[in-house]
Amino acid sequence: MEVSIVVPLYNERDNVEALYSALKSALEAMHCSYEIVMVDDGSSDGSYSVLSRLAADDACLKIIRLRRNFGQTAAMSAGFDCAQGDIIIPMDGDLQNDPADIPRLLDKIHEGYDVVSGWRRDRKDTVVTRKIPSMLANALISRLTGVHLHDYGCTLKAYRREVLDGINLYGEMHRFVPALASQFGARVTELPVNHFPRLHGVSKYGISRTLRVILDLMTVKFLMAYSTKPIQLFGKWGVYTILAGIGTGSMTLYMKLFEHFSMNRNPLLILTAFLLFMGVQFIVLGLLGELNARTYFESQGKPIYVVKDRINLD
Ligand code: UDP
Ligand code: MG
Repeated sequence: MEVSIVVPLYNERDNVEALYSALKSALEAMHCSYEIVMVDDGSSDGSYSVLSRLAADDACLKIIRLRRNFGQTAAMSAGFDCAQGDIIIPMDGDLQNDPADIPRLLDKIHEGYDVVSGWRRDRKDTVVTRKIPSMLANALISRLTGVHLHDYGCTLKAYRREVLDGINLYGEMHRFVPALASQFGARVTELPVNHFPRLHGVSKYGISRTLRVILDLMTVKFLMAYSTKPIQLFGKWGVYTILAGIGTGSMTLYMKLFEHFSMNRNPLLILTAFLLFMGVQFIVLGLLGELNARTYFESQGKPIYVVKDRINLD
C-alpha cells in the first residue's frame, strides 16, 4: 500500500459524500495503491450511515467509528494506528482542504522529505477568531520549537509512516507532529495548499482553542528540550532561585547589622524564605522528573536516540 488518506469526521454528514468522490477522483488519477481511512469521531448527525453506505461498495474506503467524541487529535491517531500506507496523509473532512493537492504533497515526499506540511496561504476563515490567533500561535510555535513553518494548524500534511510510528499524540497535539518529528531527525518542509470556506456544517472550534494550543506548546517545548534531562531545566531554575534567596538573605542581614533595620520588619526576609523554599522545590521536582524519565524510557525499552542506517550490524 503506497498511500493512506486519514480523515477525522465529527458531524460532517453533508460533506462526506462530496469529499469521498473528490478523493476518489484525485487518487484514481495517480495510479498508485491507496486506502481512505475515515474516522467517525462519535458523530450524532448520521454521518456514520452515509459512511457505511459508501464503504459497502468500495473496499478501499475503511471506516473506524469511535464510541464517543474524543476530539480531532484522538480521531486522527485512531486513523494513523490502522493506516497501512507507506505515506500517510491526514486531511479535514469538511472540504476545506483540496484532495487535488495530494499529488503535490507526494512529489515533495519523493524529493526526500519525511514530513510535508500544508500551508493555507490564502486561508478562508474568519479573521478575528481564526486568522489572527493562528498568526500569533504560528509565530510562537515557530520560535519555540525551532521548526519554522507558516501554518502548523493545517490538517493536510504528508508523513512517511516511520515518522508517525515513533510519535504518540495527546491533547491538541496533531499540529505539533512536524516539530516532534524533527526532533527525531525527520526532514520537514512545507507546501502552499488550497483552502476553501466551509460550505456545510459548522466549525467545531472557537477562540478557546488558542489557549489549549498554547498549553500544548509548553508540553511540546518541554518534551523536545528536556524530556531526557529534566534536572537540567528544574535544577537550573532551582540554583538561580537559591542564589537569589542567598542574595536577599545577605541583604537582610547587612541591613540589620549595619543599618539597624530590624529583620522581622524587612519584606526581604519573606522574599528570602520564599526563594529558598522555591529553589529546593525546583531541584526536588527536577529529581522526580529524572525518576520519571527513567521509568518512561526504560519501561518501554525506548532509546533516547534514533538510528537512521546501520551497516554490518544486524
Ligand atoms: N473533528 C473531529 N473531532 C472533533 C472536532 C473536529 O473529528 O472533535 C474534525 C472535523 O469533522 C473536521 C476536522 O476535524 O473534519 C477539522 O475541524 P473543523 O473544520 O471544525 O476545524 P476548523 O477548520 O474550523 O479549524
Ligand atoms: Mg474546517
